[in-house]
Amino acid sequence: MASIELKNITKTFDKHDVIKDLNLNIEDGSFTVLVGPSGCGKTTLLRMIAGLDPQTSGQVLVGGRDVSKTPPGQRGIAMVFQNYAIYPTMSVRENIEFGLKNNKVPKEERKELIESITETVGLKDYLDRKPSTLSGGQRQRVALARAMVKKPSVFLMDEPLSNLDAKLRVQMRIELIELHKKLGTTFVYVTHDQVEAMSMADKIVLMNRGVIQQEASPDEMYHIPANQFTAQFIGVPPMNITHMQHKHLTFGFRPESATIGREPQPGLLQTMGEILTREMLGSETIYQVKTPIDTFMIKSLDDQYKVNEQIYLSLPEEKIHFFDDQEKRIH
Ligand code: ATP
Repeated sequence: MASIELKNITKTFDKHDVIKDLNLNIEDGSFTVLVGPSGCGKTTLLRMIAGLDPQTSGQVLVGGRDVSKTPPGQRGIAMVFQNYAIYPTMSVRENIEFGLKNNKVPKEERKELIESITETVGLKDYLDRKPSTLSGGQRQRVALARAMVKKPSVFLMDEPLSNLDAKLRVQMRIELIELHKKLGTTFVYVTHDQVEAMSMADKIVLMNRGVIQQEASPDEMYHIPANQFTAQFIGVPPMNITHMQHKHLTFGFRPESATIGREPQPGLLQTMGEILTREMLGSETIYQVKTPIDTFMIKSLDDQYKVNEQIYLSLPEEKIHFFDDQEKRIH
């Protein structure tokens, strides 16, 4: 197992700083998810940890050891990519065994390792199959097993589930959480999908334009966002944010924090509104509500309200977030 420390990391491509003086400590044994919009620098950061790209300046430490100049193969790190490269002509067993043979691991030891690892990832019955006869999820598990046989102290994963269909993705998320528990190894996982980050991470690192916006547990990210960017990145639909010019005040609330009804409701913010749109998603309904203050998105368990209907909207005081003119959360 190993912790990862990034110290004053900058990465410049074509005179453009893609990562700007970034500092990050990733705890030993944690499941850390790097999340952020496309192009924010997640993959670049992961590749620098792996040693696949050199940083322009700064240091990378793994398990307290400075590996800034250590080649990828000697960092004790395994990386699993979105396009998991497994060899199509080799069986599952041969795919997993390949790296072990290269490292001259004795035959008996290879056999034991493969058996225990394929047991862990649920591939034991598929050892003699060719990848073309496997499902997407099973192929993804072969890629994981191949990384696991190297017994790395850190796993880096770059959007490993994005080629899978929605249902399988949800299943593999649960399997990865289980795998992390079993191995106890440090996992660093990159995704642009905040739902994936919220459901898997014990710590989320949210990035934008090469700068960390917030590092926190999923709970804290949701309840105490550091700034407007975080507030709007985490949660679907995003937090409603309203800037009241004459009061120099910016406040926000989550679509699920407000209640709507046909009668006035108690709450700090109370207003009348008109339903502009209605999107029924099954267990919940998203309404767009026009009020004298602003137009808000409201998520409700009640699907009875119709477009053009006049309703009352209210919001409890503790659910309102306030932001300063630098977009930082005040309370
Ligand atoms: P995505 O979610 O779309 O994969 P990302 O957050 O992983 O995005 P990166 O791939 O790290 O983003 O890219 C960050 C920025 O660095 C982007 O603006 C990208 O265009 C730029 N970049 C990445 N690699 C190179 C390169 N080899 N040469 C020049 N610019 C690059």
